[in-house]
Amino acid sequence: MQQRRPGFPARIPLPAAGHRPQAVSAPRSSAPTPVPVPAGLGLDSAAVRARMVQRLAASGIAAPQVLRAMGAVERHRFVDTGLVNQAYEDTSLPIGLGQTISKPSVVARMAELLLGADIVRTAGGLGRVLEIGTGCGYQAAVLSCLAREVYSIERLRGLHDKARTNLRPLRLANVHLLFGDGMAGFAKGAPYAGIVAAAGGAGVPPQWCEQLAVGGRLVAPIAGADGQQMLLVVDKTAHALKQTVLEPVHFVPLKSGVA
Ligand code: SAH
Repeated sequence: MQQRRPGFPARIPLPAAGHRPQAVSAPRSSAPTPVPVPAGLGLDSAAVRARMVQRLAASGIAAPQVLRAMGAVERHRFVDTGLVNQAYEDTSLPIGLGQTISKPSVVARMAELLLGADIVRTAGGLGRVLEIGTGCGYQAAVLSCLAREVYSIERLRGLHDKARTNLRPLRLANVHLLFGDGMAGFAKGAPYAGIVAAAGGAGVPPQWCEQLAVGGRLVAPIAGADGQQMLLVVDKTAHALKQTVLEPVHFVPLKSGVA
């Protein structure tokens, strides 16, 4: 049974002015360098995060809103203490129960794809978004900077609770955490301008497409014939669902039921 959870009042600290445009416009030629992470991160995390944003920009993420969101959300707060020093590397990390927090580059890529939906142009922004697979809540926090409302659903109670704990101090009024099987989407919040899945199945459940608004966009990993996961974009028009298969990706499996 899906259960609507109360949201939190919104507040994500934006990066200091010095970390914005300069950080974003790094030259493409800048080779990736190891990130020096100060012990304990703390106040210095803004600088480490700005370096991550530079690398995202250099690798092709162009939407300023996305780069700003990636610079604003403190990824180190979403991983276990022992992994804090790796929080700003472009790597997925374990979050418990066999699941992982997605790589920053993948989170940024999916967010940028969502912003490419037709409805974003016509509505002047990203309205309601549904995320399948809350995990530790990191991507939900990034999406909260970009969308009017974020519904995020998780099938593992332990991670749903962990995300609530991680997100509580951020006081994000527009994030709604749900416990349930995201295969069925979340009809009460539909229609969605964007749906993003952080777990990959053999195909896209029909409910996701049904719950997408006309002009809305779905971004999800799906397994191809050879088992290789690919990033799939589905654009919903008044008459059709247009599918575009993009690059190979590696996500945890989409599973049914709750646990
Ligand atoms: N976006 C997350 C990534 C979490 S990994 C983050 O930022 O941390 C993907 C998550 O999808 C896992 O927590 C997994 O339990 C969840 N998941 C898999 N199948 C699901 C389903 N049917 N409904 C909801 N969540 C699901």
